[in-house]
Amino acid sequence: MSKTIAIIGGGVSGALVVLNILKQSNRATHILWFDAKNAFCKGLAYSTDENVHLLNVRASNMSVFVDEPMHFVNWLTQQELPFSSQDFVPRTIYGHYVLSTFNELKKSNATVKITCLAEEVMAVTKNGDEFLISAKQDYQAQQVVLAFGNFLPAHPRSIHSDFQQSSRYFQNAFSSQVLKYALNQASVLIIGSGLTMIDVVLSLKKHHYTGKITAISPHGYLPQAHIENPLPSAISFINEQQTYTLLQLFSLVNQQLKLAMANQLSTHSVIDSLRPHLQRLWLGFSLEDKQQFLRHLRHKWGVARHRAASKSMQVVNELLYTKQLELIRGRVYDIKSHESGFDIQYANRQQAFNHLKTSVLINCTGPESNFEKVEIPLIKHLLKGNIICADGLKYGIEATENGQIAPNLYTIGPPLKGVLWESTAVPEIRLQAQQLALLLV
Ligand SMILES: Cc1cc2nc3c(=O)[nH]c(=O)nc-3n(C[C@H](O)[C@H](O)[C@H](O)COP(=O)(O)OP(=O)(O)OC[C@H]3O[C@@H](n4cnc5c(N)ncnc54)[C@H](O)[C@@H]3O)c2cc1C
Repeated sequence: MSKTIAIIGGGVSGALVVLNILKQSNRATHILWFDAKNAFCKGLAYSTDENVHLLNVRASNMSVFVDEPMHFVNWLTQQELPFSSQDFVPRTIYGHYVLSTFNELKKSNATVKITCLAEEVMAVTKNGDEFLISAKQDYQAQQVVLAFGNFLPAHPRSIHSDFQQSSRYFQNAFSSQVLKYALNQASVLIIGSGLTMIDVVLSLKKHHYTGKITAISPHGYLPQAHIENPLPSAISFINEQQTYTLLQLFSLVNQQLKLAMANQLSTHSVIDSLRPHLQRLWLGFSLEDKQQFLRHLRHKWGVARHRAASKSMQVVNELLYTKQLELIRGRVYDIKSHESGFDIQYANRQQAFNHLKTSVLINCTGPESNFEKVEIPLIKHLLKGNIICADGLKYGIEATENGQIAPNLYTIGPPLKGVLWESTAVPEIRLQAQQLALLLV
């Protein structure tokens, strides 16, 4: 008898589960694949059609399959696209790659039937041995994968909140409305100075925006650039048999960074060499260590680990040099909305009261990770019914390391950030997808 698997979310997490089921399954399976935005295989990150939005991982590490590391690079060659394994390819091309791999693979396995449904799932309830999935109509499945990805960022904290209703405020930096609106305006303020801020700046620059761009964030950190001709790598220093406390690991990494600098080795490679061990290290930390990390080191880690393509950083640096872009270190505490824009008040180390004005405000503070604060019908329903619960860190949802929430109910990707820490990039998601597909088939 055929079994039905419901996958909720059409982004890269959902897509990689589907691809791995297609590869691994040899029994009759029906996949009900839901995506509210009809963004199958692309999701939020790869739906962009701006070719200035580049991957921040080299092509050589972006294959969709763990066991075929050159799959993406070979696809680029077959398509006669001018990129090598060391390049940072536009994300729009990566979206085409995932979609084209899906279209190819679905022809190759006749035992798996896939129904793509561009519908928002509003509820998932347990109904005996099955799950009832409520979208435009009701569906039934024996297994469910929650691949709903990242949420919009929380609104910035502010004494006044009416700015949230202003048409000049964009909670979603990737909305197609941002550019349409911002290009004719005198000034743009971006709250946040990470990779999303860089995407916005690159789009504004590409579309010849001439106004003032300001980015503000509490630490004022900019992402680091990947180095084109990196120094020789430092050697791996993590003992695979050992667990470390946060303090032990912190001292060890600092020591290795100093050693690398003294010996003219790449400091980036010190950070990168942690990557294969990150989930194990995180799982070995106490809850207190994890909380300390989130409180004190999260931003520093983000800057060191999530680097931008050097071409992207070059544009940002040019704009900083010409002062069209200004980076402010400060914490926004009030946003007053008026007809032609916003009055912003922020504090920094020098002064408690600083003001600035802007015509457009874009929120690039990063996705909301606390499920209890998310106002999405499916999430509210799942929490209320105790089908999912927020993890102890309020950074994702409670699940096992392989994404199991309850019998036959799984999750993958960003919702596992609290459990695994690094769980949002393709190199981590593809491994989870391979293992999850094994459980499902
Ligand atoms: C801008 C950006 C750039 C990135 N660049 C890179 C990179 O260069 N390299 C890298 O390795 N990683 C990168 N990442 C990280 C990573 O690839 C993404 O986080 C990844 O796309 C996560 O995929 P996802 O499917 O879990 O989530 P999403 O892409 O957010 O997709 C989730 C999908 O689920 C759907 N959905 C949600 N709720 C429902 C519902 N109730 N019913 C139906 N559908 C629903 C949404 O419509 C959405 O399409 C980037 C991320 C972002 C945001």
